Amino acid sequence: MNLSDSSKKLIHLIGSAGYEAYAVGGCVRDFLMQRPCDDIDITTSAKPDELEKILSDNNIKFIETGIKHGTVTAVMEDGSVFEVTTYRTEGAYSDSRHPEDVTFVSDVNDDLARRDFTINAIAYNDSKGFADPYGGRADIDMKIIRAVGDADTRFKEDALRIMRAVRFASVLGFDIEEKTKKALFNNKELLKNISNERIYTELSKLLMGENVYNILVEYKDIIAVAVAELEPIFNVEQNTKWHIYDVWHHTAKSVEQAPKDLALRYTMLLHDIGKAYTKTTDENGTDHFKGHQKISGEYALTALKRLKAPNEITNRVMAVVPIHDMHIGTEEKNIKKWLLRLGENTLRDLIAVKRSDKLAQNPEMIAEELKRLDITEEKLNAVIAAGEPFEVKNLAVNGNDVMALGYKGREIGIVLNTVLEKVIDGELQNNKETIIGFLTDFKL
Ligand code: ATP
Ligand code: MG
Repeated sequence: MNLSDSSKKLIHLIGSAGYEAYAVGGCVRDFLMQRPCDDIDITTSAKPDELEKILSDNNIKFIETGIKHGTVTAVMEDGSVFEVTTYRTEGAYSDSRHPEDVTFVSDVNDDLARRDFTINAIAYNDSKGFADPYGGRADIDMKIIRAVGDADTRFKEDALRIMRAVRFASVLGFDIEEKTKKALFNNKELLKNISNERIYTELSKLLMGENVYNILVEYKDIIAVAVAELEPIFNVEQNTKWHIYDVWHHTAKSVEQAPKDLALRYTMLLHDIGKAYTKTTDENGTDHFKGHQKISGEYALTALKRLKAPNEITNRVMAVVPIHDMHIGTEEKNIKKWLLRLGENTLRDLIAVKRSDKLAQNPEMIAEELKRLDITEEKLNAVIAAGEPFEVKNLAVNGNDVMALGYKGREIGIVLNTVLEKVIDGELQNNKETIIGFLTDFKL
């Protein structure tokens, strides 16, 4: 396994001082899977004070990140940082969240025993090779997520592991081993003890995973504990020519079809919640969901606020969910009007969302709309590239010009918007003389 030079150096220094050190956890798993990994975690037999002495003796800076839990962050000469944690076991968990106490131990295998899944319980260094007491490498080969030890006990100790299991299944495309799977479902309610921020972090990674469709479908009852707003759409059929999936399968498909952009993935996850509250069936047996977009928006906002999603994500989701079914059109003037209303970024999000939504519908019915969305996007690109006006600030006249004609206060904005509409509609050229000429004869 090819570790970075600075991590090898650190492991070597600790070894030379008479202790053991290994790369461990996510980075070893990702190396074995030939996936990129940003942070290499190191586990060591050295106690925190012993480790700090080794670092000081070698002029390596460090930060006491979690001294109580035995974690020190080493800052290497080349700027790379490593979290170095002393081998430890964890005491009882009283609340499915925090271990009461940690105990430092001297055998790497005892440290590996506290880790959540076999694929995350592998340690490696160049001199000793792998420490892999739970068959993590074999599980990586078989693409299996399996709890270390008794799954039921492990999920009761720390319920975040429930979300982590489904998150890894989505990101890595692995199956969850049967006993582990059963324990996931049996303990799902414990997820309610986990902070919303931590749920959000795991859910976000899950949504970006390759295998997100299968995971959202198979583990929907777990997802429902994390985001209760989703449960009502689990069994809503949609009998229309446009759809081949019920609302939840359609939702999951649309998440999978969305670009790998977290705000868009959350938008798709939440976009159709309102269908649970708006369904009507006409005399031909066709279902309708009038007004569902606005209601989806209300539930989406509640969910995102509770999960403490960053404002940047919430704002993007909320800019699109309540209008995701609106028609954009393919004429340049339609596009400019939407640009005026939404701004470029939101309009681009809306196009991406409409495309993902379509791709999760009846494949026989989507070709034309997908083509229209492509045209809309091309024309949008052209409008932007040409610097054509779609906002008041792009006009060849400004507030001062309008004031000079005698307008005051609120009138100025009204006049500028009237001019903009005419420019967008092609009735007026965006040229100062033409506009002033028009305004000279204009009455508010
Ligand atoms: P990622 O790619 O998201 O960083 P990771 O496996 O590295 O995945 P981290 O949260 O960085 O996950 O944790 C590092 C390691 O610590 C894990 O590989 C695992 O061995 C252990 N670990 C993390 N969280 C838990 C937990 N809740 N219970 C048990 N072990 C855990
Ligand atoms: Mg990690």
